[in-house]
Amino acid sequence: MEETTNAVNESKATNFIHEIIEDDINNKKYSTRINTRFPPEPNGYLHIGHAKSICLNFGIAEKYDGWCNLRFDDTNPSKEEVEYVESIKEDVHWLGFDWGGREYYASDYFQQLYDWAEELIKQGKAYVCELTPEQMREYRGTLTEPGKESPYRNRTSEENLDLFRRMKAGEFPDGSKTLRAKIDMASPNVNFRDPILYRIMHQEHHRTGDAWCIYPMYDWAHGQSDSIENITHSICTLEFENHRPLYDWFINQLSIHHPQQIEFARLNLSYTVMSKRKLLQLVNDGDVAGWDDPRMPTISGLRRRGYTPESIRNFAEKIGVARRDNVIDVALLENCIREDLNKRALRRMAVLQPLKVVIDNYPEGQIETLEAINNPEDSTAGTRQIEFSRELFIEQDDFMEIPPAQYYRLSVGKEVRLRYAYIVKCTGFEKDENGNITVVHCEYDPETKSGSGTASKKKVKGTIHWVAAHNAAHAEVRLYDRLFNVEDPAGVKDVDWKATINNNSLVVLPNSYVEPSLLTTQPGDKFQFERLGYFCTDKESPTDKPVFNRTVTLRDTWAKIEKKNN
Ligand code: ATP
Ligand code: MG
Repeated sequence: MEETTNAVNESKATNFIHEIIEDDINNKKYSTRINTRFPPEPNGYLHIGHAKSICLNFGIAEKYDGWCNLRFDDTNPSKEEVEYVESIKEDVHWLGFDWGGREYYASDYFQQLYDWAEELIKQGKAYVCELTPEQMREYRGTLTEPGKESPYRNRTSEENLDLFRRMKAGEFPDGSKTLRAKIDMASPNVNFRDPILYRIMHQEHHRTGDAWCIYPMYDWAHGQSDSIENITHSICTLEFENHRPLYDWFINQLSIHHPQQIEFARLNLSYTVMSKRKLLQLVNDGDVAGWDDPRMPTISGLRRRGYTPESIRNFAEKIGVARRDNVIDVALLENCIREDLNKRALRRMAVLQPLKVVIDNYPEGQIETLEAINNPEDSTAGTRQIEFSRELFIEQDDFMEIPPAQYYRLSVGKEVRLRYAYIVKCTGFEKDENGNITVVHCEYDPETKSGSGTASKKKVKGTIHWVAAHNAAHAEVRLYDRLFNVEDPAGVKDVDWKATINNNSLVVLPNSYVEPSLLTTQPGDKFQFERLGYFCTDKESPTDKPVFNRTVTLRDTWAKIEKKNN
């Protein structure tokens, strides 16, 4: 391996892992470059928790001029699929990171891992066991009681080697034998109680086909895979803290390169489940439309919802890296996308639940062009032309027959400004036979055109958005909300977590109207619909009737929480 000198960048360590790495660099612990890895099991789509790990691992490589490998820990063929491998690569790239061609698979190391297992057998440190899974559990002991030794534990190395080779050759059925490390059945760390290294699984693997019918356990594969790749810092979540001594034990028996494992707290988000098993269940049970349903905490779901890579990276930065488990308020994530889109999303007008307005004193057939600002936060975003005419649509809830006090929208006799247009006064309304309001009548004041100079003379309290009827485009709008009603869906006592699903997490509005400029929108385009929130064009949006997903409302709950706490 090439020699490199690692340099500590100007930028300071921002978490305890950076500090460890900087110490290692200053102490010249490694002659090679800093090398981390992101090691997903391809058994599901990546979620926002993985994004934290991706930002951490790839971020370290960037910061210390090192490398971050992408390694698939594909040791369990019964749960793994190529679809997941592809989605994982897409998501890491989308987040803005690249593994520089170092795309590795634990399955590439199956032969080496097998050879090492034989080595352990020859050292008298592994044996073939025939206990059933139930017996194995029974023999294992508990946290407070030591385990019992397997009756197969004292086979000779020759016998073990012969049996292990025959396991590999396919002579035995699934589950009939395992290879176990021979360590210490009385160890206070249960991971040391003769852990299984290999199990028999007559199952095709998505990469190795039917070459193998024994597969290494994750614990046997993970540390050694890191070692093979010359990983310097093997960063993983806290539940692996108790596995570290075992990984170290394996590496010491084999006398191979020793990566430094460092544990950090996994990300937990309120109103969210993060376990891949639960996410898979939501998909399989049809509770959501798929892994990339915009309500899912998956990276593909967040992308479809309208999240940007920058907002997710910024979120990862803000939550930091800690040693202790905690739960992050999902409002912080929502605030990150709000902040980002506020700066860059083009403003547009859309009416989600339309109510027709007729401006009776506006000449029939007349069409006027008005100027609208694309983004007040971005002076380079410019303006656009919108058309105004006698008939318009406004939101149903911007008119009330009997308004409460402090209602600054439309009701008979009241005035509002139509955004970028005129002040109008409500003169009346019509109802159908069911009592539903069908049309609102108004008169406009020609002296109040926005931006005309005369406009400023007259002031009204409310400004509402609208879309002209003559050229309005039909659209479908999907209002997404949190998928769960409770902060900790997985932790509610005596209630099945699925019972906490929010039944109103998706509201489809099929008859919305939007500015005609939105007819040319492309999947993934992001907008602020004025007064309503941030929206993004769905990836399956038809060109004649676009579909918009609500990313997040304009309401900034996080800022309020922060204010309250300060
Ligand atoms: P599984 O139960 O299938 O192992 P997992 O969530 O551990 O699920 P992996 O594919 O093994 O998924 O995870 C890949 C990497 O992402 C690991 O290094 C893991 O530590 C990290 N990771 C997983 N979930 C989180 C999370 N919620 N927060 C931070 N990192 C996570
Ligand atoms: Mg895992």
